[in-house]
Amino acid sequence: MQKLITASMLYDLVACPHRVTMDLFGDPSKREEVNVFLRLLWEKGTLFERDVIGKLDLPFLDLSFLAGEEKEHLTKEAMDKATPLIYGGRIHADDLLGDPDLLRWEGHGYIPGDIKSGSGEEGKEEARKPKTHYAVQLGLYIDILERKGISAGRRGFIWDIHGEEVLYDFVTPQGQRSPRSLWMDYQGCLQAARSIVAQQGGTLPAYGAPCKLCYWRTACLHTLRQSDDLTLIPELGRSKRDTISSRVVTITDLANTDLTCFLEGPKTVFPGIGIKTLEKLHRRARLVKEPHPRPRLLEPVTFPEADLEIFFDVETDPLRDVCYLHGFLERRPHDSNKETYIPCFAEGPSPEAEEDVFQRAWAYLQSHPNYVLYYYSKYERTFWRKLQRRYPTVCTESEVETLFDPEHAIDLYTDVVLRKTDWPTIDYSIKTLAKYLGFRWRDPHPSGAASIEWFHRWVETGDPLVKQRILDYNEDDCRATRVLVDGIRRLS
Ligand code: SF4
Repeated sequence: MQKLITASMLYDLVACPHRVTMDLFGDPSKREEVNVFLRLLWEKGTLFERDVIGKLDLPFLDLSFLAGEEKEHLTKEAMDKATPLIYGGRIHADDLLGDPDLLRWEGHGYIPGDIKSGSGEEGKEEARKPKTHYAVQLGLYIDILERKGISAGRRGFIWDIHGEEVLYDFVTPQGQRSPRSLWMDYQGCLQAARSIVAQQGGTLPAYGAPCKLCYWRTACLHTLRQSDDLTLIPELGRSKRDTISSRVVTITDLANTDLTCFLEGPKTVFPGIGIKTLEKLHRRARLVKEPHPRPRLLEPVTFPEADLEIFFDVETDPLRDVCYLHGFLERRPHDSNKETYIPCFAEGPSPEAEEDVFQRAWAYLQSHPNYVLYYYSKYERTFWRKLQRRYPTVCTESEVETLFDPEHAIDLYTDVVLRKTDWPTIDYSIKTLAKYLGFRWRDPHPSGAASIEWFHRWVETGDPLVKQRILDYNEDDCRATRVLVDGIRRLS
């Protein structure tokens, strides 16, 4: 039976082409359970779509309860009659199959739309742009409509979480410097999907951020380790691996390479990879191939002396865009290293609860005149800036900047781990590094994504055991940061 190209296939392909290969041809027995957070995302997406449609103040034809050929047949009938708005239809042409949430008649043809429980665009406020994984799905629907001779033009739309309709223009080049249009992106993606379906060329796994929530993670990690794949070096990733793979294939190759053969004047022979980056990756490859690899300092690291150290970690819910927990682990080095955990937990997901908990966290820090604050990555500071803008009566912008002054607030990931250390691990997440140093979370499945699912469950049920699980997890995250600070001190 001919394998059809679907919108969800293109969506996955944008994150990882190998995921499409594994879904089509992988051994199902090696597939893990779907991550609970992903399940939550799907559920929320479905609920959001129903909510939007339930409140829709326009006449529309609902075909969402149908399936297969019947759905496709009735969609065609409705389009032949120029039905103004079709919800939950199915369209099909050649090897392409699409289930657009919406098909809207625009004078002489249809344009497709999807309902998404996320923002319709991405990027900084002054440079918002379409999301590629949404665009390729709309591109597929437009392509089918064109092949059927009922397209109103190369454009589509997203109804997003903010209640806005975001237009996706497939013709105009994206950005002043880029000649590429969304249509070109779609075409590239379609070509890649077709070659995967036809099993031409094949794809390779690559260790990276999408693997975190992927149900092929264990299977792929096994393959990557067996092939000594370059993406197991932190910060190397699929794109750099594919750039250098014509000259260097494995970590062992890279470790044993004399880098001078890749240098051309002030550049390397690899487009987009500078000398400093290549040297860093080479250094890390050599480290992991040592007989007894140990983490090392690239330069001396001195942490500020203080009577009080505070290890800080926030928990946020991206689906509701709220911060529901600010966790602080205090340690007093001059008082037998006594430790105390102080959680500021929001009693719900409302803005009032978020403001209250932000106020309490702020008051807690203000109650200590001198301390050193440790946190892992820019996320805490970024979210606190956002909270300050939301609740300007709690504190001022400059007070937040003073709080995160690097003199006494250390972003351990960005300013220490990335810049001044190398580790013989496959990534530099706090989980990986603290586990490497022997720390163990009390929870058997600790992860930020899982904690969001627990928070949703706690909001629905009010179960105190679920709340305690969240608090234990956050406390352990704070403790892991302390373990890492101590580990780096020992390296010094
Ligand atoms: S585990 Fe990673 S490499 Fe493997 S299919 Fe999933 S995202 Fe791709």
